[in-house]
Order: sequence, then structure tokens, then C-alpha cells
Amino acid sequence: MKPTGPIPPDFTWRDGELLIGGRTADDWIGITGDTPLFVYDIAIVRNRVARFRAAFPGISLHYAVKANPHPPLVRAMTALVDGLDVASEGEARVALAAGADPGRISFAGPGKRDRELSAAIEAGITINLESAGEAERALAIGRGLGRTPRLAVRLNPDFELKGSGMKMGGGAKPFGIDADQAVPVIRRIIGEGADYRGLHIFAGSQALDAAAISEAQISAIALAARISEQAAALPPRVNLGGGMGIRYFASDPPLDERRIGEALADALSVRPDILSGTEFTIELGRWLVGEAGVYLSRIVDRKISHGETFLVVDGGLHHQLAASGNFGTVVRRNYPISLTKIGRSTKLMLVSVVGCLCTPLDRLGDHVELPDAQVGDAVALFLAGAYGASASPQSFLGHPPPMEITIDGTEIL
Ligand SMILES: *Cc1c(COP(=O)(O)O)cnc(C)c1O
Repeated sequence: MKPTGPIPPDFTWRDGELLIGGRTADDWIGITGDTPLFVYDIAIVRNRVARFRAAFPGISLHYAVKANPHPPLVRAMTALVDGLDVASEGEARVALAAGADPGRISFAGPGKRDRELSAAIEAGITINLESAGEAERALAIGRGLGRTPRLAVRLNPDFELKGSGMKMGGGAKPFGIDADQAVPVIRRIIGEGADYRGLHIFAGSQALDAAAISEAQISAIALAARISEQAAALPPRVNLGGGMGIRYFASDPPLDERRIGEALADALSVRPDILSGTEFTIELGRWLVGEAGVYLSRIVDRKISHGETFLVVDGGLHHQLAASGNFGTVVRRNYPISLTKIGRSTKLMLVSVVGCLCTPLDRLGDHVELPDAQVGDAVALFLAGAYGASASPQSFLGHPPPMEITIDGTEIL
């Protein structure tokens, strides 16, 4: 048997049936009519936002839409957070359609096309500049449109977020402007009359070490102060990035966000004068939504090969690539997995849950213990709220896309 990650404590069971929000998993399947199905529970997201507010008083919270762009989820999120971070024109459209205030949307990401810059400037969205060249294009497009562009500078920090699953700073990177090249860009955009919105510093993702996150935030504040002093420019906002991770695997420790909040408050209480009027923002994706999603599939076949029992489900890595271990992980580990009904039998079986794609990569649960399962039973794969449906190769093998619903209690939003 191989270990599986912890099921988020938000999920409970009623008479041996998995509850998601106010209904059982099988009820949601019945209501939507089929599997595979992603269910995102906004009550769990609301709980995470409340935890953030308690831990980080006075810090604004942005949602990184790329973690989960399901439009009803983004609409509900817009009412809960202070702003949205988007990474493409498509995500910007989702954010605007969700009713987000354009003044509270920021657009980061390398390789923004002129068309995308133009749409963002027209809408009044803040562009987080990734290079000196992008700054020139944004200024020229603003002039052409007769609009004052809202511009912030994304810094490629000279430090990294230690222990993060995905490093986004420190050394040569396609993201942001190297700290030692940023000052002339800030001077230039201000000199050209742009609406300077401040600095964006994103050092990494999926970190579970509170001390490492605090260290990165403290370094980010120091870097923002140094660059702002050199540029003689007060930054209206400093986006400190995010990086707060969730527990995917049995070996992952829980993250104590209150410790991070306390260290940040201490650091800000002695911040340099140039940052005294600055709004500080943290942008989060998976920490807000990752644990709120469940991917439901149904067993199509049960077979034994060389003594090993396989449960073949109607879902797979084309919908939930990360759970198969093929989205930026070196060693494959099991996400939390369970049957949606565990009441019928207490006997546990050692099985491997595989998807319906014709590739050995399509393994959703490797040598896991589940109650004795039959064809037709539903399987729940947890931690499917972030980097699931939108981060998976949906056209691979030509199966239909998954269904997705965002729920609140017993309602579908
Ligand atoms: C992807 C991304 C995020 C969100 O990262 P999570 O690990 O989901 O919190 C935040 N900011 C930027 C700039 C990103 O690229």
C-alpha cells in the first residue's frame, strides 16, 4: 500500500456517504446527470477567505484566476476578495464578466500581445509589466488609444521562496524585470505620464514552510523599499506575491497562516517611510480554492492483472493531470482519494485507480486502500479545486470535457 494525502477536514460523511456542501456526492452526480464532474464548494472558499482576514488584518487579498477560472466560482470570489489577478485576455474577460472592478484587476504574465495590452488599457486594468520592451509597447498603445495606462512593474526578485514547489524568482527568469534593471523603467513610465500603480514581486508557489514564506515577504518589502527609493517613486500598491500551499501528500505538513500574518505585521510596523502610504496585497490561488474542489468519476471496469486489482474510471489525467503526477512533480504521490459511499462494506481492498486514457501515465490512485468497489460506484479525488480542469490536456484522446459546478449549500451557482 502507498500513502494517500489527507482529505481536507471540511468534508464530512452522512450515513457513509460523502457530503459536498449540503448534498451527497452522488446527489450532485444525479442532478448534473453524469460523470466526470468537478464540484467546487464556495463555502470552503469562504472559510479560507475568513482565515486569511483573521491572519492578515489590513492586507488586501487578490485571487489568482489561473488557479480556477470557472466563471461562477470567479463571480462568487469577486464578492469575497479585494481584487483579481489575471494572466491572459481570456482570464481578463472572465474577471470583467464576473463584475470585478477593473481598477482592482491586475494582469501579469510574459508574452502579452499588443491586442491583450490594448484590451487591458481600454478596460482600465492594471498591467504588471514583465519587461522594458513591454513597458514601451504599453506606453505606445496608451498614446494611440488616448488613454492613460495603469502600469505596475513586476520585479524579478534577487531572492527565491525556499522550499516552494515552483520557483518563480531568483536568477534568470522570463517573469518580471530584474531588480537591477527596474529603476529606469519606473522612471520612464512615470515620465511618460502613465498611472504608476506600484510593484509586484512573486517569488514562488506551493510552499508549506511559514518561516520561508515570511523570509520571502520580508525580502520583498526590503526590495520594494530599495527600488522605490532609487526611483524616487511612491508605490501605491506592493503585491507581495503569495506562495501559500496546501497539503497534497501524506508527508506535507500543515501551514500555519497566522504565523505568517504575525511576522508580516511585525515587518510592516517598521517599514521604511517610502512605503508608509502603500497598500500591501497578497495574491493566492490554490490556498483559496484547491481544497474546495472534488473530482468525481465512476468505475467503468474492474479487472485483475498479475494479481493487482485495477479500478478503471471514466475520468483521468485529461481532466486532472496534477493528480496523475504529471504536472510539475518529480515523484508521483497519491492525492487523497475515496469512494463516495463507504458505508456498505468495511472490508478494504488494495487497488490501483486508473483513468480511461490509453497511457500508463493515467493513474489516479496507485496501490491505495479503498472499500470493496464495484462497477458503477463513484470515486472522489480531492484537492481538485486548483489547476484541475483548466490545467489538464482535455483534448488528449478526444473524450468529452468534464462537467463543472460551483455550489453553495444545496444550490448550484
Ligand atoms: C500562478 C500565480 C499565482 C497563484 O499561485 P498559487 O500557487 O495558486 O497560489 C499568483 N501569482 C502569480 C503571479 C502567478 O503566476
